[in-house]
Amino acid sequence: METTDFIWMDGKLVRWEDAKIHVLTHALHYGSGVFEGIRFYETPKGAAIFRMQDHLARLFHSASTLELKTPFSADDIGKAVIETVRANKIKAGYIRPLIYYGYGKMGLVPGGSVNVSIAVWPWGAYLGHDAVKVKVSSFVRVHPKSFHPSAKVCGCYVNSINASLEAKREGFDEALMLDYKGFVAEGPGENVFMAKHGKLFTPSLGSILPGITRDSIIQIAKDEGISVAEKNMTVEELKSADEVFFTGTAAEVTAVGQIDDGRIGNGKIGPVTEKLKEIYLDVVHGRNKKYEGWLTVVS
Ligand code: PMP
Repeated sequence: METTDFIWMDGKLVRWEDAKIHVLTHALHYGSGVFEGIRFYETPKGAAIFRMQDHLARLFHSASTLELKTPFSADDIGKAVIETVRANKIKAGYIRPLIYYGYGKMGLVPGGSVNVSIAVWPWGAYLGHDAVKVKVSSFVRVHPKSFHPSAKVCGCYVNSINASLEAKREGFDEALMLDYKGFVAEGPGENVFMAKHGKLFTPSLGSILPGITRDSIIQIAKDEGISVAEKNMTVEELKSADEVFFTGTAAEVTAVGQIDDGRIGNGKIGPVTEKLKEIYLDVVHGRNKKYEGWLTVVS
């Protein structure tokens, strides 16, 4: 991976190579941490973080589901995120805040330290620029009563890792998971949309992460006069859509050209996806005044 100079750990910046923890860190054994993925982009006003407050709110919501209590407030972490971006002097990249149970007590009821870190690094297009090939996973999205679907809890990502490994092994770019009822849920790290006869549809909340990109695309689409409905959808419906695309902080807006062995449309990005992707990229790069409120300028 590409590295940067500094990582923020529990209140101070340390050099990248010195950002180390004990092997008996609770979260390493049990997945007892929560994280965020945030992007910042080069804009005409300098580096700007996309929807930082929304990401911080979700981070603290995630922390509450694991009873992780940190002395740092969301405001402190926001300042630390900005400090870390500034210190690393890169114009665009990915930000990874993490709050986790640290060292001091083993066993499933955590009781040791609670630690916080923030790393940033340059990260290009997560799924590449072309339409991706997707496999409907044999792994079902974790049952919403087995975890908090609205939280980004480290341990729950094993479900996403299994689905991703399976998809890659079978020659696909990405997985798509169904929920326990058999309806379309989401990708391992992305929400999914389909366009049919010019209208957009996306799975209802319940078994999925309420993605911040998903929310942005819903707002942008509505502002463009495109109707958006949240509903339960079957794989058959998705496979017969005119267009399918993923949304996510890392994946941004990525067209899906194939699901299992069936092509979507002509296998390339379709007009609705292309339009939304273009607007989204304009928004995050500060080229669209209407959504300037979503950007926190750093430099
Ligand atoms: N679903 C899952 C499981 C994810 O991990 C992510 C990435 N955070 C998303 C959806 C997309 O969410 P966002 O747009 O907030 O990055």
